[in-house]
Amino acid sequence: MSALQDQIAIVTGASRGIGRAISLSLAQAGARVIACARDEGKLAAVMSEAKDAGASGEIIPYKLDVTIRVDIDAAVEHVAKTYERVDILVNNAGITRDGLLMNMEDDQFDDVVRTNLNSVFWLTRAVSRLMVRARRGRIINISSISGIMGNPGQVNYAASKAAVVGLSKSTAKELAKRGITCNVVAPGFIDTEMTEKLSEDVKKACKTMIPLRRFGESAEVASMVAFLAGPGASYITGQVIVVDGGLCM
Ligand code: NAD
Repeated sequence: MSALQDQIAIVTGASRGIGRAISLSLAQAGARVIACARDEGKLAAVMSEAKDAGASGEIIPYKLDVTIRVDIDAAVEHVAKTYERVDILVNNAGITRDGLLMNMEDDQFDDVVRTNLNSVFWLTRAVSRLMVRARRGRIINISSISGIMGNPGQVNYAASKAAVVGLSKSTAKELAKRGITCNVVAPGFIDTEMTEKLSEDVKKACKTMIPLRRFGESAEVASMVAFLAGPGASYITGQVIVVDGGLCM
């Protein structure tokens, strides 16, 4: 039997990049993945990729903008009614709106915090109620090494990602006695549309600082998430696992 056979997983920002890779790896491990995206039409390709790969689980598309709290509550209610439980929650959706501190506008800060942090709070709160009832669950939040090391031009992003670590550790401490774990995966530079925006010069400079001398692949983050969701990680909670080619050590 596959490691996550018939488990119900929710993944946000599932249409591309790291979220897409996470959805595929959980489906390959047997999970039924409620793959959330603002444009659920984009999930058709993820569904067929899972089928083509012979995944024993499945991708179930769901339209969700994580900045709208009432929609998050409705989504969790829908999943609770349809599947009666949530075994795995992966808070992956995230944005950058970079700019130097002195020039950063309030909405530039607020948008990033609402997408990267408030959404994690809202979804974790809603899903934790189901997990507590079931006395089991895995919560995995995607942060960033920006939240650990800081990064020029990213006070908004780094603040939101550092806060995700505090939120996750507090969640881990509150929910451990109910059989629920909560961990953080903090990627370094990963080849996705998010890092595509960087200039070639910046990418080159970053690679010289990374001991493994390359950007990571989304699948290399997804495999850590699948591990944390699986039976091998049953005694791990409140941890921040960095997946960054050795940059942050
Ligand atoms: P990406 O831009 O390719 O994907 C982000 C996903 O989030 C997209 O599917 C996007 O549609 C979704 N999203 C954004 N706002 C949303 C909203 N309001 N509602 C619903 N979905 C929304 O980026 P990625 O690299 O795949 O990033 C995934 C996660 O990994 C993010 O949390 C990001 O901060 C984090 N991360 C990425 C890197 C990297 O180098 N790529 C490094 C560290 C952390």
